[in-house]
Amino acid sequence: MSNAKGANNKMDEETVKTVAERLVKAGMELYYGGYVKGASGNISMRLPHAEAFLIKPSGASLRDMKADELVLVDFHGVKLSGKAAVSLETPIHAAIYSVRKDVGAVVHTHPLATTVLGIAGYKILPLQVESYMRFPEGVTMVPYAPPGSKMLAETVKQRILECDALVLENHGLITVGKTIEEACRLTEIVEESAKIQCMLMAITGSSKYSEEELASKYSMNRKKSIQGC
Ligand SMILES: [Zn+2]
Repeated sequence: MSNAKGANNKMDEETVKTVAERLVKAGMELYYGGYVKGASGNISMRLPHAEAFLIKPSGASLRDMKADELVLVDFHGVKLSGKAAVSLETPIHAAIYSVRKDVGAVVHTHPLATTVLGIAGYKILPLQVESYMRFPEGVTMVPYAPPGSKMLAETVKQRILECDALVLENHGLITVGKTIEEACRLTEIVEESAKIQCMLMAITGSSKYSEEELASKYSMNRKKSIQGC
């Protein structure tokens, strides 16, 4: 990461350092927030004025990831610099940046309630009003494909055009944002919604509301924070 070799020459060392430090801070927040365990999950940030992004190295934990360990990768998933191997899910990150020019950061985590619903095959619904403001049609689930596979990257590449959050069936969650902070906040809101839904289903045996009922309940002038998912 340190010399940013091979990337656009507008990208200076100070910019790379700043991006790396923001990623490290976000990684710790996600780890201590309980959104990942061990070395699972990966996060990345697009570098300004360059077709490249910084991503967590393979095998590192978001808990103690170091800024100078991050790996610089281009939008084809090719490593440009960094000592460590790239994260297994790098193809997903590269695919997203290549089709979403507005996306500045990608967060992939395994939040417990979101993952449970993704295994059980239940779509996360916007049961609470704040989540309705962010994903009024619920969170789209991407069919299972092996982690790191071309199939998974290709499916995410297509679905992320319509959504800022995707549940990966039997796996976890992907969120995107203009900034790493925005992508992390969306992860938090999706997981909070999933927790509410899991508890509601445990107590009542159902999600109580259908998508149509929720749309009717919350019908109001609202600004869609993310595109329909
Ligand atoms: Zn994963």
